[in-house]
Amino acid sequence: MQTVYLDSNATTRVAPEVTEAMLPFFSELWGNPSSMHFFGGQVAKHIDQAREQVAALIGAEPSEILFTSCGTESNNTAICGTAEAQGTDWPIITTRVEHPAVLQPCRRFKEHGYREFEISVDGNGEPDLDAFKKALGDGPAIVSVMWANNETGVISPIDEIAALVEEAGGVMHTDAVQAVGKLPVDVSTIPVDMLSLSGHKLHAPKGVGALYVRKGTKLKPFMLGGHQENGRRAGTENVPYIVGLGKACELARMAVAKNEALVANLRDKLESGILATCPDTRVNGANAKRLPNTSSISFEFIEGEAILYHLSDLGIAASSGSACASGSLEPSHVIRAMGIPFTAAHGTIRFSLSRYTTEDDVAYVLAHMPDIVERLRRLSPFI
Ligand code: PLP
Repeated sequence: MQTVYLDSNATTRVAPEVTEAMLPFFSELWGNPSSMHFFGGQVAKHIDQAREQVAALIGAEPSEILFTSCGTESNNTAICGTAEAQGTDWPIITTRVEHPAVLQPCRRFKEHGYREFEISVDGNGEPDLDAFKKALGDGPAIVSVMWANNETGVISPIDEIAALVEEAGGVMHTDAVQAVGKLPVDVSTIPVDMLSLSGHKLHAPKGVGALYVRKGTKLKPFMLGGHQENGRRAGTENVPYIVGLGKACELARMAVAKNEALVANLRDKLESGILATCPDTRVNGANAKRLPNTSSISFEFIEGEAILYHLSDLGIAASSGSACASGSLEPSHVIRAMGIPFTAAHGTIRFSLSRYTTEDDVAYVLAHMPDIVERLRRLSPFI
């Protein structure tokens, strides 16, 4: 059976170059990078190189990169580490469409007496900037806003929000897990203080991530223990995965602009093909700037899960929302926050492409989609 993978926002396949770069660290290069002897030294220099590769992709200094175990840990470190460093005087401001790895730590601090604001978004998934200004008031705050949404691909006006936060003397974190590797991301031109990224969203393995922390940002360590990562993140480094993340960042940096255009072209073909052949469908966030690889499409009057089962029978992998929310029949918090009508919200599918997606993949989906939608609509209680 032909298989087509269009769920790259859930995870990506590991690039062969990344696997190859990692292999020696499972055999001959197995030392602990903190060891004083040469077993450690010969490994530590590869961590230094990976730090340079990650920094180069996002325009940071190597000393501003902390390695973590995943995007979730990067987000938790940024939010918990800053909230603890600043205390309850600083409010925490985020948006209603963040990943749970941002929303949950923010809400935890609310339980601990911090003021917490979740800014709403409009029908395109774009945050309300006036509400931001109001929540910021005159004083500093901890602000966490995602660079790009994992479900819709909608890109936030990070530069405008970061400028407001800078003016108010606050600290700005961005969850750029879905943006890094898909778009040019440059912290030397946008005043974010912290930025999260995750290996498995950019063709490195699952279980490794990084947090950029601008020099001078006050942050209490989240993981306590040894002195690794300059005392900012305890725990013996996951050397093979860090090396893999470095390699994936190097590959992304060499090709980000080219891949952005190629992937956007395929995504647009998929989107326009579906809209042309399946009536009563809409693209969520269509009027906003979006990631080149993501398409969230709502099919009126049918269940997203039913579409996914039919696609899966044909070897096509997509998703009904974020991997964390799929499995539940409720529309995701993102789709609900955008105010998408009930009959469309329930029929929402996310297609997310990668640099490995081909013209044939798109053609295969387009060949089957109209039939699936028509068959399900015939059974729909809403029509
Ligand atoms: N933030 C966003 C926007 C995501 O899409 C994800 C994963 O889907 C995460 C954070 C969590 O990353 P990880 O799976 O590496 O913990």
